[in-house]
Amino acid sequence: MMLTNQNPLLRELAARGEEMSFDLGGLLFNAAVDAQALAIVKCRDTAHLSSVIRVASEHGTPMAVLGGGHDLSGRGFVKDNLILDLRALSSVTTDSDSMTVTIGGGTLSGDLIENLPPHLVSPLGTVSTVGVTGLALCGGYGRLTSSLGLTSDTLERAEVVLADGTIAIASEEDDHDLLWAIRGGGSGFGVVTSCRLKLHHMPEVLISMHIYPMEHAHRILLLCQDLIDLHPTDLNLFMGFMTGPNGQPVLFVSPTWTGDRNIGEALVGDLQADKSALTVQNGWMPYKMTFDKEAEKAWPKGRNYSLPTQTVQRLDRETVEILIQAALNFTSPFSALVIHDFHGVATRIAPTATAFPLRSAHFVIEIISAWDGVANGQISDHLAWANAVSASLGTVSLPGGYPNLLSPHEGERARQFFGGSAERLKAIKSRVDPDDLFRSATGRIPT
Ligand SMILES: Cc1cc2nc3c(=O)[nH]c(=O)nc-3n(C[C@H](O)[C@H](O)[C@H](O)COP(=O)(O)OP(=O)(O)OC[C@H]3O[C@@H](n4cnc5c(N)ncnc54)[C@H](O)[C@@H]3O)c2cc1C
Repeated sequence: MMLTNQNPLLRELAARGEEMSFDLGGLLFNAAVDAQALAIVKCRDTAHLSSVIRVASEHGTPMAVLGGGHDLSGRGFVKDNLILDLRALSSVTTDSDSMTVTIGGGTLSGDLIENLPPHLVSPLGTVSTVGVTGLALCGGYGRLTSSLGLTSDTLERAEVVLADGTIAIASEEDDHDLLWAIRGGGSGFGVVTSCRLKLHHMPEVLISMHIYPMEHAHRILLLCQDLIDLHPTDLNLFMGFMTGPNGQPVLFVSPTWTGDRNIGEALVGDLQADKSALTVQNGWMPYKMTFDKEAEKAWPKGRNYSLPTQTVQRLDRETVEILIQAALNFTSPFSALVIHDFHGVATRIAPTATAFPLRSAHFVIEIISAWDGVANGQISDHLAWANAVSASLGTVSLPGGYPNLLSPHEGERARQFFGGSAERLKAIKSRVDPDDLFRSATGRIPT
């Protein structure tokens, strides 16, 4: 922590009467991160944010943004960064005629989804407390990715405060390069104070949740791949492994079906009828009901996490076997493997249409190692497990990784992920942030 009188920027901000805080307590999602910061400034609106950024920029001080606060690496909570707290910029304004919604840059997924009219949806992630903008700036995988695309694919227009404090409009008509970049290219291009997202008409989806014992996991996951091959657009599969109530690992499979009612019900009926299945949910419901606050408690804020990620093309025999072995060797009851699918509509968008270039069918795997203090065994065991699983999956994975989950030390993997988008992203970054003041951003490509 830095006292205001020792730092010229903080002295100037204090003289302007800025409300600053130095207490990071309760802000970090991942307790394993060693957090520090110069100060946190509460942003009131775009004009206020712009004036704060202008001053910080004149002092050459790096800045980071606090949106929903879910970044697992605690990006921004690093020494010498001024944190721009956007949490007060939460608003949701729907225009049903144009089928769009405009949200403030600090709006959480749950607040967006709760405030949409019935029948209209915006594809989001799977957890209500994640910031919509943070999610969208790197993509945004969720229960509707295969049916509607990534969250970033719905981003049509944004107001962005650039590193020198100027306000830009990222849109097709205004700065279309900037729009291209913030549609999945990372969060280092400025601070998004508001953005407009395209909405889709979808009154109900069919959701179910099936739990299978480990001895059936191989067969069921291969079946899931077959089902996705048959229904790449109407079927979205959220899957993974976690520890069941009896202390043993289990496979969970949770389809979200958006197509023909009879076909969907038959498909879910087959998953439920499998002799090994325990079905805990099955029914048509509005998309917003898929955000389950009880289930979200499985990975709470304030626990210790290490979360490497890999991206695989298919759930083939080799990949499935690696996942099963990983689950059988969990070192903590809180650890898990989460699998997000990417098929259908998301694959039909051209790789160059947005900054998110990976448009072939794939699955993102979150290797979640989680522990409370040292109560669940040695920290080194948890870290070793996550690294070993990542290394094993690395033998069957695509290059790079989902930038929202990569750590700041994995810049080379971000570069590999962005592939053909990388050079254009770097050129746009040099234009809008020539002094690299937003250097702790997600999706950062090393220079
Ligand atoms: C429990 C949990 C569940 C998750 N589930 C999913 C999921 O289902 N699907 C998925 O794709 N990802 C998921 N993620 C990853 C998540 O999308 C990223 O961590 C995302 O960056 C979080 O955004 P945030 O605003 O909540 O976090 P923050 O830590 O506030 O921000 C993350 C990054 O985005 C930047 N940022 C945030 N808001 C703005 C803004 N308005 N303008 C400019 N930059 C901004 C920040 O500077 C930072 O670099 C999950 C993460 C957690 C911890």
